[in-house]
Formats: sequence, C-alpha cells, structure tokens
Amino acid sequence: MVPPCRSLADMALYREQGVVLRTYKLGETDRIVVLLTAGRGKVRAVAKGVRKPGSRFGGRLEPFSHVDLQLYEGRNLDIVTQAELIDGFAPVREDYMLSACGSSMVEAADIIAQEGERSNRLYVLLLDGLRQLAVPPQWPATVLDAYLLRLASVAGYHPQLDTCAGCGAPGAHDVFHLAAGGVVCLRCAPNGTRPLDAQTLALLRALASAQWGVSATVDQRARRAVSALINSFLAYHLGRSLKAWELVPR
Ligand SMILES: [Zn+2]
Repeated sequence: MVPPCRSLADMALYREQGVVLRTYKLGETDRIVVLLTAGRGKVRAVAKGVRKPGSRFGGRLEPFSHVDLQLYEGRNLDIVTQAELIDGFAPVREDYMLSACGSSMVEAADIIAQEGERSNRLYVLLLDGLRQLAVPPQWPATVLDAYLLRLASVAGYHPQLDTCAGCGAPGAHDVFHLAAGGVVCLRCAPNGTRPLDAQTLALLRALASAQWGVSATVDQRARRAVSALINSFLAYHLGRSLKAWELVPR
C-alpha cells in the first residue's frame, strides 16, 4: 500500500524538547545550537539573530538549558523558530564547580550522541545528571562520576565489577583493567598492576549500582581515585578524553 503523501508544510516544521549541549557563532549575529533532543538524537540548528541585543530567544539557548523548541527542517541545518525555556539550570550555570561538572556532562553526551539516532536513555540520563547537580549535592564531582559510569553503560561499556572481566571467574576481584572493561582475577591481571583498596572499590560499586551520591564516610582520597579511574575508563573506550573534566576541582 502506498503511504499517504505528506505535504511539504507538514514535514517542514517540528517540535522537540532538548538540552543544549553547546553553541558556536555563525556569521555576525547567528549561532549554531547543538542539542540532544528527546526524539531525534543530536540536532544541529541555527538560531538566527541570537547575538543581537533584544533577541527573542535571549539567553534561552545556552548550554545546559532544557528547552521546548519549534524547528524548521532546513536543507543542511534546521532553523529554530521558537524556543521556550523548561529549565535553565541556573544553579549549575552560576557556580564554578557545578558548571565544570555540567560542562563535562554535556561534553560526554555530545561525544556519544549521534545525529538522527534517538537515544531516550542518554536524554533521560543527561537531564537526571543536571537535576542532581542543581540540588546541589555534597560532592558534585562524585555525581559527575556516577553520570559518567552510566554514560559508559549507555555507550555499551558497562564496567564489569562482580566477576573477572577477563575469564568470568566469580569473586571479589580488586585489580581494575581498563582494556578488559572491569575488575580481573590475579591470573588475568597484567604483571605489575596494583589492586584497588577496599574503599575505592566499594565506592566504584556503589556508583555503578545506580547511586548518585555517597555517604559522608567516604574519604576524599577514595573519591579522587574513583574519579581518575572512571575518567581513564571512559577515555580508553571512547578514544578521547573530556576537556571539561580537567576543570573540575577535586
Ligand atoms: Zn580472570
């Protein structure tokens, strides 16, 4: 059966909710806005005239902003015709620490997300992460770590922490092996690798099991060790490191 023809007008305009990942200048007064949308994955769109004083979009199309948009499908780039702010995540934007964590979150989502490839898990994860930061949490960097671990899972690299990532042997292994993708038994561990201490391993397990924060008893050394480990894990599997991650005070 031949599908009914849609008119050009039907196809041209669409509505989407999304989170602004980044923006960059285009020409004298325009900006390109890169969004992670609920329905269309990553979308790159032009916001015309946003760098002019009194622009009707004003500050709505800034990184972290959760927006409801109307867009016009362009030949190469879509064009933003309406933008309503759902949540600007002002607390995240206004604090250096939170904004460094938020920047790492959107940068990581930008690496994973593909244009025209819907990923509801990634979209929900990014919104959850920004909401957790906006609370704000006691240790924002640990919330970022929890987010990055979930992001690794969405990208297909869920760290294996309950059995040996090399041979599958059960047990509480304590050597973390980046290439194997998790903890490994002593037989699978490369020569010279050092085991993680109990507190670092416990924190890693807690964050991997869907906790956003951790109790006040976890010391700073363990939190830093977990941060460094998750950053290396992500960089190894994504093939690049996060620029904003370096800016997060720890
Ligand atoms: Zn093994």
